[in-house]
Parts: sequence; structure tokens; C-alpha cells
Amino acid sequence: MTNGVGLSEADVLAMFRETGALLSGHFELRSGLHSDQYFQCALLLQWPDRTARLCGELARRLTAAGVEADAVISPAMGGLFVGHEIARALNVRSIFAEKQEGRLVVRRGFAIRPGERFVVAEDVVTRGGRVEETIRIVHGAGGVVAAVAVLVDRSDGTVRFDAPLVSLLRLAPTTWPPAECPLCRQGGRAEHPGS
Ligand SMILES: [Zn+2]
Repeated sequence: MTNGVGLSEADVLAMFRETGALLSGHFELRSGLHSDQYFQCALLLQWPDRTARLCGELARRLTAAGVEADAVISPAMGGLFVGHEIARALNVRSIFAEKQEGRLVVRRGFAIRPGERFVVAEDVVTRGGRVEETIRIVHGAGGVVAAVAVLVDRSDGTVRFDAPLVSLLRLAPTTWPPAECPLCRQGGRAEHPGS
């Protein structure tokens, strides 16, 4: 296994495509919208070796950007694998926040000490709500958020946090209501992947 140094965007994209995490075609999403792209990060995360390589690359970029971290925190579920592997690469500990009665909380005796520097890790950000919530948890305990690290930025670069964001891939999916779908108009039938 490599330590992920110097993964290009093409390398990253290839890993998402070869695991079926990123498909091109004609899809009906769970929202009912049609799209030319289907994305399911869990299909990449089911491969620990690929996950470790991608997170090693995130850790390398964080270090190159001068980010110093004492620990990593991630929102469960998808963030867990990313947070764990980034923490391994940075040789720091990894904790997580989990849903309790509809909001994220840190349980299980995990500590956030005043002044402690965290990387907030997540698999995918779209609107960034869970990352925001995790940042607030760290700040609420007196900790510092040094950076946010995600595998995929699905906001196409529009999401902003109170800390620098490092991502490996930006995706801007195109979606349409079925009645306006150009792929349907061409006579195609939408697939339902992952259902
Ligand atoms: Zn369609």
C-alpha cells in the first residue's frame, strides 16, 4: 500500500469510478429528481485500502497547508472511516459525534480540551450542515477547528466554513425534475441504483 502521496484528481476519480461510487448515466435519485450522475460514497469506503490511500492524501495536503492538529473529529456514520484514517496518517486520536434525539453530540467519554486543535473530517459535504454542527461542538467545548477535510465536496466549492476546507474531489451534479429531463426526452429510461 502506498501512503497516498501525490494522488492526482484523475487517480481519485478513478478510485470512485472503479468502486461504483460514482456512475455516469441516467438516474432517478431518491429525491425523485433525474440526474446524469449517481454518487454513493459508501461504495468507496467499503474498501479500507482505497479509503486509507485517499485519507493519506488528505492528511498530506493538510500537513502541506501547515495545519497542525491534536485530534480528528467526525460526524457518524460516513465521517467515521475518513476521520479514523486521517487520524492514523496524522498519528493523532480520532473521536466522533453521533445523533441523539436529532442532534449531534459527543458521548462515550470522548474529551475535547480547551485549546485542543481538531480537524473535522467528513466523507461528503453538500450543504455542510453536519460539519457545521461538529464545528459548533468543538467550539462549544473550547476547542479549535484547524481545518475541515472531506473526500468529496458536492457543493462544487460553494460551501464555506469557519476553517479552511481541504477536499480531494469537487462534484457538481446536474439534476432535473423528470418532466424537464433531457435524457428522458432522448427516450432513455432512468435507473434506480442503490435502492
Ligand atoms: Zn430522466
